Amino acid sequence: MHLGAKAITSMRLFFMAVAVLWSAFWVSAAQGAGDYHLEPDEIAQGVYVFWGVNEPQTEANGARIANDGFIVGDEAVLVVDTGSTRRYGDQMLAAIATVTDLPVRHVVVTHHHFDHAFGISAFTDRDIEVVMHEEAARLHAFEGEEILGLVTDLIGPEWMEGTTIARPTRTITEPEEFDLGGRIVSVTPFPNGHTPGDMAITDKATRTVFAGDLVFIGRPSTVPHADVPNWQKHLDTLMEWDWQNLIPGHGALVTAPDAVRDAKDYLVFLFDHTVCAFQMGDTAVEALMVDIPEQHQDLAMLETEFQRSVFQLFRKYEASGAPPCEQ
Ligand SMILES: [Zn+2]
Repeated sequence: MHLGAKAITSMRLFFMAVAVLWSAFWVSAAQGAGDYHLEPDEIAQGVYVFWGVNEPQTEANGARIANDGFIVGDEAVLVVDTGSTRRYGDQMLAAIATVTDLPVRHVVVTHHHFDHAFGISAFTDRDIEVVMHEEAARLHAFEGEEILGLVTDLIGPEWMEGTTIARPTRTITEPEEFDLGGRIVSVTPFPNGHTPGDMAITDKATRTVFAGDLVFIGRPSTVPHADVPNWQKHLDTLMEWDWQNLIPGHGALVTAPDAVRDAKDYLVFLFDHTVCAFQMGDTAVEALMVDIPEQHQDLAMLETEFQRSVFQLFRKYEASGAPPCEQ
């Protein structure tokens, strides 16, 4: 086939346009992925939070979906949770260095879920102590690789670059105190709540609690590893504690117990409804046909998270039974 000069010129223009668009795409992809823009928010004297977004994990947000932070003493810094990825952990350390020259000496990981634990290697590679509950460490080792693959599919390999399932340096099962120099931070296990190995971290000086995923605000609590009735008891305990600020694992700062009560109410509804539907012989799909109480209607991702939780709880009841329906 013979192409005239005019056809060649228009083809050349076409390929040039494609090349320009293609390179523009890669430039914007490179600019978008990799930088979490972490800015420490000092919510109380010496207590800083990096706020996550109440969204599903996506290529746009790099799974910056959970809250984490750090506490600065006179001699050292303690970090709470590590974010979803190695990049996140690295960038946390860089952001902390903009606030203080003191060394990061301890990291406490509230539980094993990826959005709290997969940044661990950023700290262990720098010889910083990383503490987890024994059960959280077990699940992290057991499930980590599989979840790492799933998250990579969702947010893309660029965000996940360098992320590994790094072991914590130490596990605990009992309450413990950390002295940061003129500042005592206590760690309290709340086993078999949101997961088998949750822990809350309290800064005594400012009466601030990092509650991890024991508390979800503005989005439904998730239950894939939960003991829901026991979790409700943990929330009662947390509501009784004398705190001024509570940082939930997801959602906005809490300064009064009411918001924790709302989170508990959702769990009560979810559990009671699924137990009774199961005991009446409904299928999980039938159990979805329910009016969720008005007070929970504003939760982000309500429909998808409720659906996911109903299926997860039904699988659990089918495998090991459900308690009696008490409605
Ligand atoms: Zn979680």
